[in-house]
Amino acid sequence: MRILKILTLAVAIGCTRATTVPSTPTRSANGHMPATWYAGSATCDNTPAFHVHEYSSGFYILRQPACTNFEKPFLFLIIGRSRAFLLDTGAGNINVAAVVDSVLNAWRSTHNGAPTALVVAHSHGHGDHVAGDDQFRGRTGVTLVERDTLSVRQYFAFTSWPEQRVTIDLGERVIDVIAIPGHQPASLAYYDRTSHVLLPGDSFYPGRLYVRDTAAFVRSITRLVTFTASHSIAAILGTHIEQTNHPFVDYPEGTKDQPAEHTLELTRTDLVVLDSALNTMRGRVVRTRLPAFSIWPLP
Ligand SMILES: [Zn+2]
Ligand SMILES: [Zn+2]
Repeated sequence: MRILKILTLAVAIGCTRATTVPSTPTRSANGHMPATWYAGSATCDNTPAFHVHEYSSGFYILRQPACTNFEKPFLFLIIGRSRAFLLDTGAGNINVAAVVDSVLNAWRSTHNGAPTALVVAHSHGHGDHVAGDDQFRGRTGVTLVERDTLSVRQYFAFTSWPEQRVTIDLGERVIDVIAIPGHQPASLAYYDRTSHVLLPGDSFYPGRLYVRDTAAFVRSITRLVTFTASHSIAAILGTHIEQTNHPFVDYPEGTKDQPAEHTLELTRTDLVVLDSALNTMRGRVVRTRLPAFSIWPLP
């Protein structure tokens, strides 16, 4: 999510009566989601630093609670035989390394000490996803992929950006990496071939999809739809929830306490709805409410 002061102004919101169905929770043979991601109120009384959920073997979802930052981002930790992969490092002043170390050490204790290496990368470069980078930079056994586009392209070995699709092998666990600029220039989507989960970051989640570069964003979403046409998709997990559990209704920007949130997971059908809506706009992307998310172009 990209917060701009201008968005705090009251702005008339275009309301499109789309002929779409609300998102339904995704159940995968490989994984399961908790009944709710509600991680406590605006105060930190008895609230853990993160809500940690093992979605499937070696696939952890970490949700930062509202009390430490209203963005409440989701982080993902995927574990292969030789390397673990952390996607994003949280928002604000949060001790993310402690919880990642805890999960990894528990895993290693039952897997002969493996994996010994950790790669820390990002969904994109916005501040609410990179705040804990310093906790990993320079650590033994840790590779931090810096947030800028050049670093991303070099680390993942993109030779044709953004059309090329590349992979990273964590050791018997391959992740596809897809460039999806538009929300932010260095935006990436990741697909875990083991769990069949797609991770599109802030480019697609149940909430306000802030679009900075509309032409790039439209192409990126179409690229994702094309990818999902040839890959099994168990769930699409973004990095925020801003939508309530009522279709078309989101929480006001900056809301901390969200007791009746939409599910985190979206489906390929939802993605196709977004792609169709964008293509219908023919280059003039306008603010549009859909059942499970909003399209929100930025000036
Ligand atoms: Zn964000
Ligand atoms: Zn963002």
